[in-house]
Amino acid sequence: MSLKIYMNGELVPKEEAKVSVYDHGLLYGDGVFEGIRAYSGKVFRLAEHVERLYQSARAIMLDIPIPAAQMAADIEKTVKANGFTDCYIRVVVTRGAGALGLDIRKTSHPQVIIIADMIQLYPPELYEKGLDIVSVSTIRNHPNALNPRIKSLNYLNNILAKIEGQLAGCVEALMVNHKGEVAECTGDNIFIVRKKDVLTPPLDAGILEGVTRNAVMEVARKAGYAMSERSMTRHDVYTADEVFLTGTAAEVIPVVKVDNRLIGTGKPGPIFMDIKTRFEKITRE
Ligand code: PMP
Repeated sequence: MSLKIYMNGELVPKEEAKVSVYDHGLLYGDGVFEGIRAYSGKVFRLAEHVERLYQSARAIMLDIPIPAAQMAADIEKTVKANGFTDCYIRVVVTRGAGALGLDIRKTSHPQVIIIADMIQLYPPELYEKGLDIVSVSTIRNHPNALNPRIKSLNYLNNILAKIEGQLAGCVEALMVNHKGEVAECTGDNIFIVRKKDVLTPPLDAGILEGVTRNAVMEVARKAGYAMSERSMTRHDVYTADEVFLTGTAAEVIPVVKVDNRLIGTGKPGPIFMDIKTRFEKITRE
């Protein structure tokens, strides 16, 4: 049976879900998006995702044609209409079709699209063994150019970094910012563990404020770890006891090698395992 895609208030079969070739989302990556998950019939942190979507839209002066409460209801409706209890949800809002030029005043009808489907970012065995990642030469977008806090449809910065990582034989790549500080991976936030301290780069490192990152920070604090946001260099990552990544699609996944340096014992560490168990518990609440 064909998936039903939400397009501007209606559910249409996947084959009929289409946008104009004049849409500035396609022409210029002009739009915003969200990746969300549903667990056991409940959309995880729906309010946070919707809020981030509207904040991203505000930052690029894109008026989403429906109110946030309607968006949240329509996301839930799309999941139900497809009969999913556990799935990945992609919400996309484009600038809409316009003239062949950058002028946003010549665009109209932003397209609101909600796709409920499945996603598998990494092979299952990597969740047990841990990832081998490399840092890449493509730096994260400078916040004064395109702020990484905006989850925009222009993901070329991340794609270029991911290509570099893949050419080095890795499934994920670590990006530093214009100051050489650790920022994030191409689609995930990064955490390190040093003794009992759990550390993650601050938002002003130029990163996306991950919903999973926020959830994991809460979980870590509740579990009694000293959780803080701290600027870090690659040296801090190489010498950490544990490293792990967080993201909606990836969930939480351990990293055991960075730039060919073994992290800790080279096996997923005990604090990661504890946080993972606790994180999984809150996705089922
Ligand atoms: N950083 C980037 C660049 C991302 O694209 C994502 C989402 N895939 C994340 C971090 C993780 O954010 P979230 O936990 O909200 O999915």
